[in-house]
Amino acid sequence: MLEKLMGITRKHHEFYKNSIPLIASENVTSYFVRRFYLSDFGHRYAEGWIGKRFYQGCQFVDELEALAIDLTKKLFNAEHVNVQPISGTVANMAAFFALTNPGDTIMSLSVPHGGHISHDKFSAAGLRGLKVEHYEFDFESFNIDVDATRRKVEKLEDKPKVFVLGASLFLFPHPVREIAEIANEVDAKVVYDASHVLGLIAGKEFQDPIREGADVVTASTHKTFPGPQRAVVMCRRELAKKIDRGIFPGVVSNHHIHSLAGYVATCIEMLEFGRDYARQIVRNAKALANALHDLGYDVVCPELGFTESHQIAVDVSKLGGGDKIAKKLERVGIILNKNLLPWDDVKNADNPSGIRIGVQEVTRIGMKEDEMERIAEFIDMAIKEKKSEKEIRKEIGEFKSEFNTVKFTFEECPAYDFPEIC
Ligand SMILES: *Cc1c(COP(=O)(O)O)cnc(C)c1O
Repeated sequence: MLEKLMGITRKHHEFYKNSIPLIASENVTSYFVRRFYLSDFGHRYAEGWIGKRFYQGCQFVDELEALAIDLTKKLFNAEHVNVQPISGTVANMAAFFALTNPGDTIMSLSVPHGGHISHDKFSAAGLRGLKVEHYEFDFESFNIDVDATRRKVEKLEDKPKVFVLGASLFLFPHPVREIAEIANEVDAKVVYDASHVLGLIAGKEFQDPIREGADVVTASTHKTFPGPQRAVVMCRRELAKKIDRGIFPGVVSNHHIHSLAGYVATCIEMLEFGRDYARQIVRNAKALANALHDLGYDVVCPELGFTESHQIAVDVSKLGGGDKIAKKLERVGIILNKNLLPWDDVKNADNPSGIRIGVQEVTRIGMKEDEMERIAEFIDMAIKEKKSEKEIRKEIGEFKSEFNTVKFTFEECPAYDFPEIC
């Protein structure tokens, strides 16, 4: 059994070492972060709040959590921070718990328009018993249609209590100021879900949702923000009590303190390296979009410069659809996901028109604009079957062997080795 487990784990590492990781919601942590992730903190319970725990033994956990809050405030200039949610979905549940009652209405983006499942009625919002209305969406600007949304809100009998912004397919900043204005008119709150773009916000390469009028920001800490898997919530001082109670006892008991320690280490990295890292991510996204566009691919929004984030979206409906292309690319070691595009029906989630590409992880391992051109060539080679899958996989492995080191950290370290610790 041990051999089996070793085999599975080693093969997984080997697979990533030889592949190009382009999933927009993933990243790799440094050994600096992983060391704290493996600490004894992961064996302990710390239910409650700093100084008011329900378990003994939390003296240093309290110091750790206070440090996490301090560094988060520093990175994002936030008034109040809670670092306890164990994932982005849990953070959203907490925000809904804090700001709504069952039967209330919220406004969010539909999944084809980029919304996350937790913003919808078949997931976290539904669990709270919320009714969900969707923003009107403008295909041209690939963004929320503010005027049409305003008209929709005027007609609604049950005015939304929360306007959710932020997305999973997230190319351009959202109109936070404009939506906050509409929200103010109906006495609602704005929750900005920064799960995808938290690292870009930390590096000051995307919009600043708090300054633009969001009341609450929820976010995973492991997408563009290159930390362990968990989440944070930031909010205005007036909402602190509600949000804290929404998190505990609302939706979190123990909060996985080893990953909190890793998160603190990531904050320290981002304070030091975040600007350079985020700048290179956006440059790489634009470079990859341009290269694919030049090769004839239907990268969305050419007239808008393709993207302002870490993501690009390609319409592959004429090439057999997102499912076929994503699987074909996986066979040569290019890892990305199929994705609904705004004009798709949600019922086509199994074979949507698009693929989504994120460049945050390849940026973290040192790739720059030249490598984006190489990646575009590999994608083209695989889709057009210019060589056998085996040959392409081999070439990708050779290309990748130069990029298996984590950068933007204090001491560069292997990205995809299975570390020996004893
Ligand atoms: C990924 C994502 C989430 C969920 O985060 P988890 O940490 O996977 O639970 C929530 N909202 C958005 C917009 C996301 O993209």
